[in-house]
Amino acid sequence: MHRLGPVAPDPGGAAAPAGEQTAPFPSERIYLSPPDIGQVERDLVTDAFDSNWVAPLGPHVDAFERELAERCGVADAAALGSGTAALHLALLLAGVGPGDDVVCPSLTFVATANPITYLGARPVFIDSDPSTWTLDPDLLETEFETRARHGDLPSAVITVDLYGQCADYGRIESICRRYDVALIEDAAEALGAMAFERPAGSFGECGVLSFNGNKIITTSGGGALVSDDVDAIARARFLASQARDPAPHYQHSEIGYNYRLSNLLAAVGRGQLETLDKRVETRRRNFDRYVSGLGGLPGIDFMPEAEYCSSNRWLTTLTVDPAAFGATREEVRLELERHNIESRPLWKPLHLQPLFEGEPMIGGAVAEGLFDDGLCLPSGSSLTSAQLDQVIDIFRGVGRY
Ligand SMILES: *Cc1c(COP(=O)(O)O)cnc(C)c1O
Repeated sequence: MHRLGPVAPDPGGAAAPAGEQTAPFPSERIYLSPPDIGQVERDLVTDAFDSNWVAPLGPHVDAFERELAERCGVADAAALGSGTAALHLALLLAGVGPGDDVVCPSLTFVATANPITYLGARPVFIDSDPSTWTLDPDLLETEFETRARHGDLPSAVITVDLYGQCADYGRIESICRRYDVALIEDAAEALGAMAFERPAGSFGECGVLSFNGNKIITTSGGGALVSDDVDAIARARFLASQARDPAPHYQHSEIGYNYRLSNLLAAVGRGQLETLDKRVETRRRNFDRYVSGLGGLPGIDFMPEAEYCSSNRWLTTLTVDPAAFGATREEVRLELERHNIESRPLWKPLHLQPLFEGEPMIGGAVAEGLFDDGLCLPSGSSLTSAQLDQVIDIFRGVGRY
């Protein structure tokens, strides 16, 4: 039997820098957000093998796309190799090109902004609203007012539904409409969340989903572009399949990409999607449990839930005020790590990343404060209540009280 060599275990890591977590942790390590795979997924993958649809297209891809569109309350979906690929295509469809500006929040994963640079455009970062931690609509509106006067509006806005909480689309959709700027919803962390009685993914011109290993549902790696614009989705599929013209031979008139999700992985995604409601329920229950265990402590504040939103609580996140709690966020994180429990700071704001040094940033104090004091706790849908209690006990022990 052939066996591959040992692989550094990091099933829950969002984006662990190389070299981190290489120690062979025992199996009881508590991860931030590990994959949670059931029997249905195994059966569907077996079906894909048995039918020999081991190709980048096939019946599971078609069905997964229909099911995703239905779940997001939109007309159509294109299943893709990653959320990053979906963002790249969304920006292409919005006509973003070299020299353009694209607005996005600073407090997000780097994958939100990387595709802006693939197109030779420039990211313009905006701070978070302290009441939702998502893109601040007031700053967005002021920025648009100023830019409109100079005839310098951005080509697109990417909002981020952070840790499962939707941005304030009540405000942001109308601002973008008023100035006729394309809006792309990065809902990679928010599948299953609701805002303004609409599902995450349904806002703006199109929504972006991710099925990376740490997300609420996973295909090990994958993503999707969802939209009411069926022509846009058809074009996304075309671009994602090497932009092959309809002809019996291989004919190409445009630059294309190899961005399609395989039929095998779509089978996994279908099984995962069936359980989405339960996963949201479980993650919200994890959050409630943390609130009852830690919420009363001085200096501990959980990510607020906007009144317009029902978050999927992909990750439970909070801030630690060291003066009030008697310990810093980093002391809490290291103590958890000592007990083989993975927790992480919030996303490092993109305007502080060496990669984006010198790019424009509007505001910044909110995102910087959240990065200084913020922590993501283990939040997976397979956490046991004993594990939750263990995290809470260790956390409590670090404080002054
Ligand atoms: C995970 C994530 C992405 C990227 O998705 P991939 O499928 O990993 O490419 C994009 N944006 C945000 C906010 C994410 O959390």
